[in-house]
Amino acid sequence: MDRKSRYSAGIKRKVIVVDDEYVNRQMLGFIISQKYDVMYAENGRDALEKIKTVKTELSLVLLDIMMPEMDGFELIKIMKDDEELRHIPIIVLTSEESAEVKSLKLGASDFIMKPYNRPEVILARIGRIVELNEGRHIIQDTERDTLTGLYNQNYFYEYAVQLDQYFPNWEMDAVVIDVDHFHLVNSLYGRQFGNEVLVKIADTIRSILSETMDGYACRYEADKFYLYCTHLDDYEVIRSQIMEELFTLGDDKRVRIRLGVYSDVERQLGMEERFDRAKLACNRIRNNYTQAIAYYDNKLHKDAIFAERLIHDIHDAIVNKNLVVYYQPKYGVQGEKPVLKSAEALIRWNHPEFGMISPGKFIPLFEDNGLIQILDHFVWEEAAKQIRKWKDEYGVTVPVSVNVSRMDIYDPRLETRLLDILKDNGLEPSEYMLEITESAYSDDSSQLIEVVQSLRDKGFKIEMDDFCSGYSSLNMLTMLPVDVLKMDMQFVRNVHTDENSFKLIKLVMEIAEFMNFTVIAEGVENKEQYDLLKQAGCDLIQGYYFSKPVPADEFVQFFDKD
Ligand code: C2E
Ligand code: CA
Ligand code: CA
Repeated sequence: MDRKSRYSAGIKRKVIVVDDEYVNRQMLGFIISQKYDVMYAENGRDALEKIKTVKTELSLVLLDIMMPEMDGFELIKIMKDDEELRHIPIIVLTSEESAEVKSLKLGASDFIMKPYNRPEVILARIGRIVELNEGRHIIQDTERDTLTGLYNQNYFYEYAVQLDQYFPNWEMDAVVIDVDHFHLVNSLYGRQFGNEVLVKIADTIRSILSETMDGYACRYEADKFYLYCTHLDDYEVIRSQIMEELFTLGDDKRVRIRLGVYSDVERQLGMEERFDRAKLACNRIRNNYTQAIAYYDNKLHKDAIFAERLIHDIHDAIVNKNLVVYYQPKYGVQGEKPVLKSAEALIRWNHPEFGMISPGKFIPLFEDNGLIQILDHFVWEEAAKQIRKWKDEYGVTVPVSVNVSRMDIYDPRLETRLLDILKDNGLEPSEYMLEITESAYSDDSSQLIEVVQSLRDKGFKIEMDDFCSGYSSLNMLTMLPVDVLKMDMQFVRNVHTDENSFKLIKLVMEIAEFMNFTVIAEGVENKEQYDLLKQAGCDLIQGYYFSKPVPADEFVQFFDKD
């Protein structure tokens, strides 16, 4: 009778406990013998013989690693090479973490930590593996992530759901652990190092799961980890434990992790939804250098619903012309009196229900799902029409800069699209500037550099937006196709109150002069800031000091002052 039929016939499933130490065998046997029909073996060779005699009747092998005669690793190898035995699941019994990883890689399904101090967890693990194996034969390669040995996402969800079923009353947390700017870690220190980081995090999570809490973990989308585990009030311990381990890879390397926690999950939500909530919390601190752990709460929930609503409404907004482009002037300040030089096009959404929504609220949403391109194309066209209109009606040429998102740059039709827009409106590339945020350059992609270089060759002026917000290194600057550095607002903010800020700005000015970049400061709000920036040699200034972004028809007031 094979293992499945045994069970349907009401006969206990057969399992074998392989351990050279008598006490260990008996302890484990004691825990599981109520539910299982237990056989025993004292080393690999002994076990192999017994396994061969029962073969298809056997539901599970519980296997110690360090044993005389034939050790656990060897037995796993033999079983995995044997057509008849390879489908019998194996759980490794170990007190050493290093053994776990190796045995999982060899094809064990799971591991149980010695000493056996949590019988209910042991029973749950065993039950899960046995049932899974009966449902279908697990293909080990797809179940685990080859780099870290953690589960893949699908299996992870399945096991997490099972854990819920076994322990319906446990308070559980869904946790997302994300490596900050992982692509930067890769490009600064190499992919090999990037992999080491991921493995280190996975190993630490694994040991936390076997020592301090119960649960499962998986790797998700390259640089994230999902953790479904028993509730913890404060995740700082977990974070610092992982950070400490990462430190051992070299304390000169800057690697940082972020945690998003959805505490005490609602069981009626699907597993994916629970992790969406944790992810939401995690994303909220994406560019926040002072906070590394975020907890999901009601406000986040409301924000998420609002975000969904905006995503839903964007098509109507375009059709109903609720999107409007505002213009903010940029002044040349090095002459005797400030002179209007150009403008930046900034989108506004006049929502029929919520009123004016600032782009800070919706642009990030659309960057995540690609809708940003629709918005950008709209703004590019509007801006070109506007330049034309000002030329025709007022005889003035005001070059306008538009924002170009990261996603636009990787669109192969970008250049033709821009050139078509100019042609349709009878404009020259020199009358149209492109702002590309500094963080896009940090992708360090040769494709990006090629695309931008080619645009520049066509005559477009390129501004590096948000310069100094934290991504570029000075030596990168020498290789980048850029005409104008647009100093980040944060950087300008303290120029009049903090001497170091001012020194830094002067330094940027010196470098810019040396490399022949024009410099523009944005977010200039008052006379003190204005005077200092002018004194430091800044060429152009944009900010509330001159004007907020205004609708096109109000913008003409700046012509007169000229
Ligand atoms: P940004 O490109 O860095 O634009 C500058 C932002 O600073 C604008 O906010 C502008 O209104 C604001 N600002 C200008 N002067 C001052 C000042 O003196 N003080 C302060 N506190 N703020 C000032 P806005 O219009 O809310 O845009 C926010 C961000 O949204 C922009 O940052 C840009 O990243 C994005 N954005 C706006 N329009 C578009 C667009 O058409 N396409 C894309 N891809 N992004 C856009
Ligand atoms: Ca900009
Ligand atoms: Ca900016």
